[in-house]
Amino acid sequence: METLQHDVLIVGGGGAGLRAAIQVARGHPQASVGIVSKVYPMRSHTVSAEGGAAAVISEEDSLDAHAYDTISGSDWLADQDAVEVLVEEAPREMIQLEHWGCPWSRKPDGRVAVRPFGGMKLERTWFAADKTGFHLLHTLFQTSLQYRSIIRYDEWFVTSLIVEEGRCQGATAIEIRTGEMRAIGARAVILCTGGGGRVYPFTTNGNIKTGDGMALAYRSGVALKDMEFVQYHPTGLPGTGILITEAARGEGGILVNNEGRRYLQDYDLGEPLDVRDPNHPQKRTMELGPRDRLSQAFIHEREAGRTFSGPDGDYVHLDIRHLGRETIDKKLPMVRELAVRYVGIDPVAEPIPVRTVVHYMMGGIDTDIFGRTTLPGLFAAGECACVSVNGANRLGSNSLTEILVFGARAAEAALSHAGQVGPTEQSLLAESVAAERTRLDETLFRSNGGGETVAGIRTDLQTTLEEGAGIFRDERTLERACATITDLKKRYEKLVLVDTSRIFNTELIAALELGALLDVGEAIAHSALARAESRGSHQRFDHPERDDVGFLKHSLAYRTEGAPRIDYKEVTITRWPPGERVYGTA
Ligand SMILES: Cc1cc2nc3c(=O)[nH]c(=O)nc-3n(C[C@H](O)[C@H](O)[C@H](O)COP(=O)(O)OP(=O)(O)OC[C@H]3O[C@@H](n4cnc5c(N)ncnc54)[C@H](O)[C@@H]3O)c2cc1C
Repeated sequence: METLQHDVLIVGGGGAGLRAAIQVARGHPQASVGIVSKVYPMRSHTVSAEGGAAAVISEEDSLDAHAYDTISGSDWLADQDAVEVLVEEAPREMIQLEHWGCPWSRKPDGRVAVRPFGGMKLERTWFAADKTGFHLLHTLFQTSLQYRSIIRYDEWFVTSLIVEEGRCQGATAIEIRTGEMRAIGARAVILCTGGGGRVYPFTTNGNIKTGDGMALAYRSGVALKDMEFVQYHPTGLPGTGILITEAARGEGGILVNNEGRRYLQDYDLGEPLDVRDPNHPQKRTMELGPRDRLSQAFIHEREAGRTFSGPDGDYVHLDIRHLGRETIDKKLPMVRELAVRYVGIDPVAEPIPVRTVVHYMMGGIDTDIFGRTTLPGLFAAGECACVSVNGANRLGSNSLTEILVFGARAAEAALSHAGQVGPTEQSLLAESVAAERTRLDETLFRSNGGGETVAGIRTDLQTTLEEGAGIFRDERTLERACATITDLKKRYEKLVLVDTSRIFNTELIAALELGALLDVGEAIAHSALARAESRGSHQRFDHPERDDVGFLKHSLAYRTEGAPRIDYKEVTITRWPPGERVYGTA
C-alpha cells in the first residue's frame, strides 16, 4: 500500500485550513502539507459568507475599541488574551489578502471601504460587496495553488484520528470516489473542519456543517468548550434558512413587525435613527445590536402576536427599500438575488420576510491561543475550535478574521511540534486502516435488522435540540433533550444502510456525519443544562440573570461511555473587568 505521510496534515479546505496550509508552505517550503477535505475546497462553507471581516483600519478606531466590542459582545466570556491577538493581527491579515488578490470594496477616493456591523460600535468591517466569503476563499485557494508542497485530498472524508503513544499521528479517511479506507500519517494534525449548525433543523449552514472535527477531537479525549453557546441570526429567509446578511442592516435596513413598528426600539438597543436621511450624522441604528439580543427580541414579538405568519412559520419584515436600487445593486447584490430567487420578493420594491435561524457555534474544540489542544500533535482553528474569542456571543464579521489569524497561528504551532517528533510508523498506519475498516463493517455495514434510518434519527435529533436547547431554555426542556439524545444514540446503533456499495456512497457519509451530530448535540444539551445562568446566547427562563460568581468560566464537555462529564476552566481577563452590556447609548 502506498504510504501517505506529511509533516502537517490539515483536515478542512475552508478559510482556516487554506490559510494554515499557506502559512506552512510560505515560511517552510521543505515541510510537506496535506489538506483533506470532504468537499472540493471552494465548496467549503466559508464561500457563503456575505457581510465581511472585521479589522481596525480608520484613524478614529483603535485596537482597544475592537477588543472591547468583542469582549462586551461576548458577555465577558471571551478570553481577553485571545481577543488581543485577534484584533492586533487582523489588519495585517486583511492587507495580506489584498496583496494576494482579494478585491476589497473601495471608497470613491480609492481607500478600502468598511461598513457598520452588529455589535461593532465603529465601522471596521471590510467587505467585497456582499460576497466576501467567496472572494476571500477564492483568494486563499488560488494562493495555495502556487505551492508544490501542498498536497490535496479532495473528497476524502476523515473518519478517525490516529492516536498512539499519547500523541496524534495522523487520520484515517475514506476516499469517497472509491470507498477505500486510507490512512495518512502526520507529525501534526490541524482540525479546520468548521461548525455544526446542522444539528438544528433550521440553519444558514450548508449540509456539510456537521461538526465532524469536533466529534473527532471529543472521541480522542479532548474537551469541547462552551458548547451551550449557539448563535441564532435574526435574519434568515423562511423556508430555506438562507442568510440575509447583517450588512443589509449595516447599510441601513430596518426591522418592522406586523404593526409596522420598528420594534427594536422597545428592547433597549437605542433610538430609532432616521435611516432614510442620508445626511444623518450618526449611521449606527438599533438594528445593529448584537445577534443574541435581536434574536431574543424576535421571540418576544412572536409571543406578543406581533409577527406575520406564513406557510414556513412566523416572520418579520426587513425593509431596505429606502436604500434605493443603485445602492442595493452595488452593495447588496446577493441580498437582492437571494430574495428574488428564494422568496419571490424584490427588495427594491417590497420588504423581505425574515426570521431567526441557527448560524454559528461559539463553542468548539478547546484550544489555547496557539491552536494547541490538550492532545499533543493535535491542533484546531476556525469555527470548529474555541480559542475563545467569541465567548457567549460572536460579533458578526469576527469569524472570517478569526479563521485567518488563528489558522496561521495554529500552523506555526503545528510546525514547531512537527520538528520535535518522528514520522508515523508504516505498521501503525496499516493497523489503523484495518481497525477502521472493521469498525465500519461491524457497525454501519452489518445487517442488524435494526431498521433505523439516517433521516429518521437526524430529524428527531434536530427537533430535540430546537425544542430543548433553542433561543430560550430551562431545566425541564434541557433534561428532556439530554434524555432523548441518549435514546437517539442507542437508535444509531441500529442504523441500517440501504446502500451497501462502496463507490460514492453518500448514505454512508451521511451516517458518519450523523454520528458526529449526535456527539455535538449531546455536548450542547449537557453543557447548557449545567450552566444555571443566562449569558449571551444562552438564555435560561429558570435562571434569567448572568451569574459571574458561579459561571464566569468556560464549560468543558468530556466524552465518557455515559453522559458527558462537564468541567470548567477560568476565563482569561487581562484589561477589561466584567461589566454590563450596554448598546442603547452606542
Ligand atoms: C451563510 C453564512 C454567512 C456567513 N457570513 C459571515 C460573515 O460575513 N462574516 C464572518 O465573519 N463570518 C461569517 N460566517 C461565519 C464564517 O463564514 C464561518 O465561521 C467560517 O467561514 C468557517 O470557516 P472554517 O474554515 O472554520 O470552516 P469551513 O469553511 O466550514 O470549512 C470546513 C472544511 O472542513 C472540511 N471537513 C469537514 N468535515 C470533514 C471531514 N470529516 N473530513 C474531511 N474534511 C472535512 C470541509 O470539507 C471544509 O473544507 C457566515 C456563515 C454562514 C453559514
